[in-house]
Amino acid sequence: MELNEHLAALAIREKSDTGNILPAYEVKRWPAGRLEELIELGNLIQIEDATSIKCPACSRGCSVEPVRGINNDGTEYCEVLCELEGSPDIDLFYLKQWLITEKIRTYLPKVKKRRKRKASPDLSQRETEVYRMVYVENKTPKEVAITLKCSDQNIYKHLRNAEKKLAAKNSRSVSTERSQDLPHDKRGQETIEG
Ligand SMILES: [Zn+2]
Repeated sequence: MELNEHLAALAIREKSDTGNILPAYEVKRWPAGRLEELIELGNLIQIEDATSIKCPACSRGCSVEPVRGINNDGTEYCEVLCELEGSPDIDLFYLKQWLITEKIRTYLPKVKKRRKRKASPDLSQRETEVYRMVYVENKTPKEVAITLKCSDQNIYKHLRNAEKKLAAKNSRSVSTERSQDLPHDKRGQETIEG
């Protein structure tokens, strides 16, 4: 995972219910040097070792409480009690954990605002068709309904919509002309395209 991608994923994680603490077993899967990089950037802080961890000795992911002690030679060891694997020693690294700082929130992916769907200001194909049949071919709505195989109510609806849209277009073009102070009047020249 690229650094920026990783930062965004951690930013989402920090705000989510999963929480802002990263256990070692997760960090262990990261690309080499990534942990140091994120600490350097101030996005992670190492906190005190965990007292309960996901068992690193088996694949079941059982929760274990590691026992720490000192070997005869003075080195520290840590063992877990696993039902499957007995009591193996584990790497002390597995006890470590990190806190994701709030600084990471600057990497939260930007949420795109959903645009409201506006009704199209242009006539639909059907509206154009109905309008043309009524006003150019002089058919009655009932005849149009029969030709287009739909109900009279639908024809009236398409007609109303077409008229509303054309009226809106006309008023727009008039106001544009006025603002630009054009001498000639283009009102009523709206053409309908099929
Ligand atoms: Zn286990």
